[in-house]
Amino acid sequence: MPLQLVLFVTSRCNMRCDHCFYLDEINDSSRTELSLDQIESLAKELGGLHWIALSGGEPYLRKDLVEIFKAFYKYSRPNIMSHVTNGYYPDRISEMTRKMAEACPKSKNLVIFSLDGLKETHEQIRHSPGSFEKVRESIESVQKHQSDYPNLETGVVITAQENNREELIPLIEYIESKLIPDGIYINLQRDHTQPSNVLVDPLTLKNYQEAVAFYEDLRNKKHLKKSKILDRLLDGKNKLQKRMIAKIAEENSYQLPCLAGKVSVVVDELGNVYACELLKDPMGNLTNQSFKEIWFGEKSVSLSNSITENKCYCTHECAMSSSLLFNPPKLLHSMVAGMLG
Ligand code: SF4
Ligand code: SF4
Repeated sequence: MPLQLVLFVTSRCNMRCDHCFYLDEINDSSRTELSLDQIESLAKELGGLHWIALSGGEPYLRKDLVEIFKAFYKYSRPNIMSHVTNGYYPDRISEMTRKMAEACPKSKNLVIFSLDGLKETHEQIRHSPGSFEKVRESIESVQKHQSDYPNLETGVVITAQENNREELIPLIEYIESKLIPDGIYINLQRDHTQPSNVLVDPLTLKNYQEAVAFYEDLRNKKHLKKSKILDRLLDGKNKLQKRMIAKIAEENSYQLPCLAGKVSVVVDELGNVYACELLKDPMGNLTNQSFKEIWFGEKSVSLSNSITENKCYCTHECAMSSSLLFNPPKLLHSMVAGMLG
């Protein structure tokens, strides 16, 4: 059974961002959503999970978001429960994250806010006037709960792309000095023609690598002061992950076996089950089959084997993260490197 689930809870969204890989699906009124009962059955069938990541669309447009988290906490007790939001609804986000953190005390509750530039750039990319201030308010509103709920963490994700590539370092400086989240994640814009054909604009790639190095340096300085061993080990893994992503993008070549469909799985709001969201052909659908029927079915087994045999590759951060975590030699090497700074 998988240890990581990415669940798209809705395709509704209040934005239309330039880099969104889900644009064709966003606000398509013909797309239904799995009900809370269906999601609860999925959680029951999955049992223990290491990491559940909720995504969309904008997850906070689902009124039952807290109940969805509760269902996974009850049946899967994940170590990490994360979700990504565009941060447009500070009041709703504040109230719902407080409830989530309260209801799931033994899981790390990670709220990740998307921010792609300083005010003008961010709002241009997102086609959403006023959204920069909203995301700032939302981050603050969640941070206010952190003293009551130590399991609650905030992150900011930046998607490096042509439209913000020159602003990445000033943006990191702004986030580190003004927003002060627990972590910053710098992602490389996903090329829609992947898999195994990664085409990234060379200048964007160069600026992405510089931004990653800049942030690693900041983290190193912080952690050398704090000397938190676990943080340094994880930093090592993250560093290797970023290097591999850059190498894949630079050389358009395979670097390590992808374990999508073996340790991680993606379910969309319609109930389609995928090895990853880039492979568009679903392994099955939860509205007419149970998860176990799909996961242990012929189609899934042959797909996950073909991913490894055919050396499928891409720059997908989540899939890469799981693939590294379950690749002991690479993991050990990266963690030792992280320890040494
Ligand atoms: S906020 Fe997220 S889901 Fe909505 S359009 Fe932007 S990238 Fe896509
Ligand atoms: S490398 Fe993995 S995550 Fe990327 S497209 Fe192939 S199966 Fe999907």
